[in-house]
Amino acid sequence: MRKKIVAGNWKMNKVLDEAVALTSELITMAQDEVQGDVRIILCPPAIYLTVIKKYIENSPNFALAAQNCSDKVSGAFTGEISAQMLQSIGVEYVLIGHSERRQYFHESNELLAEKVNTALENGVSPIFCCGESLKQRQNEDYIGFVKNQITESLFHLSAEQLLSVVIAYEPIWAIGTGLTASALQAQEMHAALRQHIASKYGEEVAQEISILYGGSVTAASAPELFASPDIDGGLVGGASLKSREFTNIIKAR
Ligand code: PEP
Repeated sequence: MRKKIVAGNWKMNKVLDEAVALTSELITMAQDEVQGDVRIILCPPAIYLTVIKKYIENSPNFALAAQNCSDKVSGAFTGEISAQMLQSIGVEYVLIGHSERRQYFHESNELLAEKVNTALENGVSPIFCCGESLKQRQNEDYIGFVKNQITESLFHLSAEQLLSVVIAYEPIWAIGTGLTASALQAQEMHAALRQHIASKYGEEVAQEISILYGGSVTAASAPELFASPDIDGGLVGGASLKSREFTNIIKAR
């Protein structure tokens, strides 16, 4: 049975009071309204992780993700945060390869493979983000492009390691643009990625791995997306900053 997950990527938003208020509201709303076994993963800025951790302590369906980690283990890398540090404060997940990191910080598939390794070695599960640009969708084999991101950053893993990874398909043209991929477009890619994983690791592993969709998900678009057979939940940016909207998205899962 694949895990159902809705993750909220706050990016570089919210001051401390706002981050705490949003967390408290989400916990209350989830307690009152969310049924079933959906896992809610909050991805606040790293500076708030220890604070937010205390707030979610008694809410077993909540977990935390960092938005990034270093590919290095430790040492003279000023400003960086290691996977071991995340593990030491009880952070269970880390976003790896978000398109903003790929675009603005030039993170390559090869570097992301190193980040995946250090996360797994420290017991932190990568939420591995992949996705094509609009230009690639219009002019190239866009499915092949995304498959290749997975091949180059994940296919060195053992099956057991891969099962600790969550994949998030996030078409770049849909992130923060208000343009959501249609449920059909998203399902096409999710099925292709699952098939790609099956070709390397076998059908059983492919059926076990959670693949999330991300890109302008809202409470209005979530039900149709989440009803698709290969979409196991969402990675939500903008809409995760509003407790009511995000709770409604969680309820759609
Ligand atoms: C994201 O940042 O991962 C994301 C999907 O953002 P948005 O929902 O705002 O498009």
